[in-house]
Amino acid sequence: MAASRKIQSFRLPPLPTIGEIIRLYNLRAEKQLSQNFLLDLRLTDKIVRQAGNLKGAHVCEVGPGPGGLTRSILNAGVADLLVVEKDTRFIPGLQLLSEAAPGKVRIIHGDIRNYRMDRGFPSFIPRKWEDEPPNLHIIGNLPFSVSTPLIIKWLENISNRNGPFHFGRTQMTLTFQKEVAERLAASTGSSQRSRLSVMAQHLCKVKICFTIPGRAFNPKPQVDVGVVHFTPLTEPQIQQPFKLVEKVVRNVFQFRRKRCYRGIEMLFPEARRLELTDVMLKTADVDHTLLPTQLSISHFRALSDAYGRICAENPGLATYEFREELRQKRLQRGKGTGLNDDDVD
Ligand code: SAM
Repeated sequence: MAASRKIQSFRLPPLPTIGEIIRLYNLRAEKQLSQNFLLDLRLTDKIVRQAGNLKGAHVCEVGPGPGGLTRSILNAGVADLLVVEKDTRFIPGLQLLSEAAPGKVRIIHGDIRNYRMDRGFPSFIPRKWEDEPPNLHIIGNLPFSVSTPLIIKWLENISNRNGPFHFGRTQMTLTFQKEVAERLAASTGSSQRSRLSVMAQHLCKVKICFTIPGRAFNPKPQVDVGVVHFTPLTEPQIQQPFKLVEKVVRNVFQFRRKRCYRGIEMLFPEARRLELTDVMLKTADVDHTLLPTQLSISHFRALSDAYGRICAENPGLATYEFREELRQKRLQRGKGTGLNDDDVD
């Protein structure tokens, strides 16, 4: 009881403002690292509220930078905050925060793309996958160039229940370029519907929480920013390996304005293209005239199941990649003509 009252009442002591921290440690934003800072603590508080109740929670913050979002996370009453920051210049400012919240902050100087989050939290946290999500959250305002590949990696981790999802259905609250946020949450038939929509929604409940105008950041990025919350589903909507689903979805969306059969054809080598496309569409009972954006998750489930069955019956097919075949053909042509790969087309 006393401990929970202590958690609830935690507030950081008075500290220099984020602007003062930036000046104090000379933390000029590096353009090539796409650093854009949030200095308004009301906004960072709003991002943190999207994660839900964080009292007594374990949190991993990715890319804390000068620590605005970090302060809001600490003020939400977390028990344990692990921050992973790549840029050394931010470490002294983060140490100052750590001293202001004794025993709560652990600082990792490293790249989140290589960090083994499964080793970063205590062994009592894990919950069964089917249970409520564990009391562990990932929160971050990362550069767009990192957040998109990272969410794809984490979706694969969700599918395999490893990495940060070794603990169960770890929830994530992350920022993306507004267009990417819209694609992640786009429903069937929407013009924003894309590969990301299907890959994210078949594994997670995806919610766009709110948009932050670019002018709220320092320096101001070219685009607005969407805050997105992800809760992994207890059952993926498509029960096939991540790589197989990703291959089907990627091929279908490669001709996003053409009928869906055009992309499906590219899953098969030329000699059997028409025959196997027909088998796949018939087995999945999908209308070949639909556009990729009109296909629902159920359509993609049926297509992935049909493709899985065709691959099982045709050894070698699973590794076929249309783009690789094209590349080889171009190389051959290049050899014959004295051109290299880059010169062709
Ligand atoms: N969270 C801070 C905020 O909201 O003001 C900083 C945001 S800034 C857009 C992104 C931060 O992520 C920077 O501090 C940058 O150094 C850090 N960062 C970039 N790539 C990273 C990576 N691969 N791993 C860990 N941190 C990274």
